[in-house]
Amino acid sequence: MKQLSLLLLLLLHFNINAQDKISVYFESIRNNEAQLTAFFAGMPKGGDLHHHFSGSAWPDYLLAKAIREDYWVELNTYTVATAAGKTGTWKKFSEVSDLQALKTAILQQWSVKNYHPAAGPSENIFFDSFGKFDAIMDASVPEALLELKRRAKAENLSYIETQFIRPKFPLKITGNDSLNYRLRQAGIQKDTNTVFSVFEDLIRRFEAGGAVDTALAFNKRVSEQHRQLQLDDDSFTLRYQNFVLRFMEPAELFKHLYVNFISADKSPLIVGVNIVSPEHGEVSMQDYWLHMAMYNYLHRKFPLVKYAMHAGELTSGLVAPEELTWHINEAVRFAGAARIGHGVDMAWEKDSRSLLAYMKHHEVAVEINLSSNEFILNVKDDLHPISLYYKAAVPITISTDDAGILRTSITWQYVLLAKRYPFISYKAIKAMVYNSIRYSFIEDEQVKAALRKNLDLRFAVFEKTFGR
Ligand SMILES: [Zn+2]
Repeated sequence: MKQLSLLLLLLLHFNINAQDKISVYFESIRNNEAQLTAFFAGMPKGGDLHHHFSGSAWPDYLLAKAIREDYWVELNTYTVATAAGKTGTWKKFSEVSDLQALKTAILQQWSVKNYHPAAGPSENIFFDSFGKFDAIMDASVPEALLELKRRAKAENLSYIETQFIRPKFPLKITGNDSLNYRLRQAGIQKDTNTVFSVFEDLIRRFEAGGAVDTALAFNKRVSEQHRQLQLDDDSFTLRYQNFVLRFMEPAELFKHLYVNFISADKSPLIVGVNIVSPEHGEVSMQDYWLHMAMYNYLHRKFPLVKYAMHAGELTSGLVAPEELTWHINEAVRFAGAARIGHGVDMAWEKDSRSLLAYMKHHEVAVEINLSSNEFILNVKDDLHPISLYYKAAVPITISTDDAGILRTSITWQYVLLAKRYPFISYKAIKAMVYNSIRYSFIEDEQVKAALRKNLDLRFAVFEKTFGR
């Protein structure tokens, strides 16, 4: 043990010099994508904190499996299923005459492959893709988990916090329509008293309907699978976030969110909760404040449960200008999010300077997803608000979002970062890598400390190699 500490000290000492040398080298390759790729492929990247499980599996592998297992495919939407649907033109893969052409067409719908605007809005290609491969994804969970781990290790990534699968809670809510109406009316008035009293009533019903048992059964399945697949080892750690879908009706969404919170509260592996699906969708926009109220309320019931939120994944023209002014503000100040996913509309947010100062002061990190923002929102280069976050000293982490659908990698996110934002130094990039462990939701401090120490060692080796 003593020898190990001595070795670490020596490596760190040696590295002060190496870090200067590597900074000089890094600046010399800033504008060369191939050299940056080689550099960042080797650089330790800590954690990927904004990561969707189903959007990260490589679509080509999913498709290959669907063909191997002779799934049904609908020839207009390219949706696969284990049985033919009631509407549409369904065929088994083995019955398709030109399989090669079909494969090409499918990958253009399941991912950004060869995207051309004539195929429709990029946001639709992206958000519609999930439903098309859902059936094969559902049947591929263990191998997809192992695939993600394998890829992470190959990319020098030591931690993933993935938005995994949702605990299902089938309880029927009686009087659903009138409850939703009441919630929405109170939401328009921002009447927290009424909203919270409806929540209170709902929770009594959820408890009676088995919410705790549902969450515990789900946690058991997740932890058994985690153990069986041996996902954690000396150089890699995986943790999970639960999530809810923004387009659900309010009472139904609250039901799932409640089970999510119980599940995260009672599991050391499920470390947080998130809220997903297009933020600019009709229901998402209409109920946004209501969703924030749900988090505000549940935070007091479960003060230890952490949550990150997709917030401000919006841009000019996608929604009305006034709608760009408040989503991050509410997620941070009212809902109490510990991290913000995307945060793209920051420049349009009301009093953005004070919001940025608030995020810095309260250490609310922002998860930056450059490829995703470029494809879905068409926001890149200096239109991207990363400079605002950076200059305000808000903690930044770099992540992939959906590397499978976007056909990208964590390495490439760092290449884009270095190439597009020359004011961000090597030292600052390294700090972002450390942020990805520091602002992770890992509950066990020992696990966090081990990941940090492991990162020290990896950087020592990396800087020695590239600093020469
Ligand atoms: Zn996301």
